[in-house]
Amino acid sequence: MLTVTFTDLRTALFKLGLSHTPVIAHASLRAFGEVVGGAETLLRATLDSVWALVMPTFTYMTMITPEVGPPNNGIAYGSELDLNRMAEPFKPDMPADKQMGILPEMLRQHARARRTAHPIQSFAGIYADKFLAAQTLQNPLGPIGALAEADGWVLLLGVDHTVNTSIHYAERMAGRKQFTRWALLPDRIIECPGFPGDSAGFEAITPVLINETRRVRVGDAVVQALSLRSLIQAVKDTIQADPLALLCDRPDCERCNAVREAVKLKRVA
Ligand SMILES: [Zn+2]
Repeated sequence: MLTVTFTDLRTALFKLGLSHTPVIAHASLRAFGEVVGGAETLLRATLDSVWALVMPTFTYMTMITPEVGPPNNGIAYGSELDLNRMAEPFKPDMPADKQMGILPEMLRQHARARRTAHPIQSFAGIYADKFLAAQTLQNPLGPIGALAEADGWVLLLGVDHTVNTSIHYAERMAGRKQFTRWALLPDRIIECPGFPGDSAGFEAITPVLINETRRVRVGDAVVQALSLRSLIQAVKDTIQADPLALLCDRPDCERCNAVREAVKLKRVA
């Protein structure tokens, strides 16, 4: 296994040319191999290489599944009683879900970081207040839209498009079906509209973006960067050409099947 230093990371990320660009990043520290100084080093090198940094700090542990709700919502109502019992009310200082990786949580804890208040889909950022301010309960991925308007880019640090939240924003722009979810607050349960579909099929966008993607290798990892505008346009074109594009192959995937059902209904209508 290679050992990766701050200088290795800084040198590689510099080649991506993002020092004047606001960025939304997704990361797997483990993908790099042995990073000297760990997540703190990767965060510092990333902050040094971009203008503003945003990361999702989602908190799925707040989610509640009700007994009943709207139809074709990609959810099995009344099925998650045990999970409901383990749900935790959202608090502004709630750690990001572990499945987001360690970097978003490190960013959230950074002295200069701000974090939004969406109970499921919060974002943290540094020098990113105006992007974070674009989030509402109705438009949870608003910060991605604001980043796109400011010519922002997506940075995939050792991860692929299956964790690229910006593709969800583009799906919504393309008119793809969105979902309703529910989150626990300290005093009540709140309905959260605009919850996105499943991302397991998102790697299918890679060949479409081959010429738009900047790539560098660091340690064991590949780092990819691409502009949000090109990404969003490519996803919109892809879904327009095939309304079932970027869905996953898992026969029992509730959200992908709900999208298929919605497309079928639209064709009949
Ligand atoms: Zn799926």
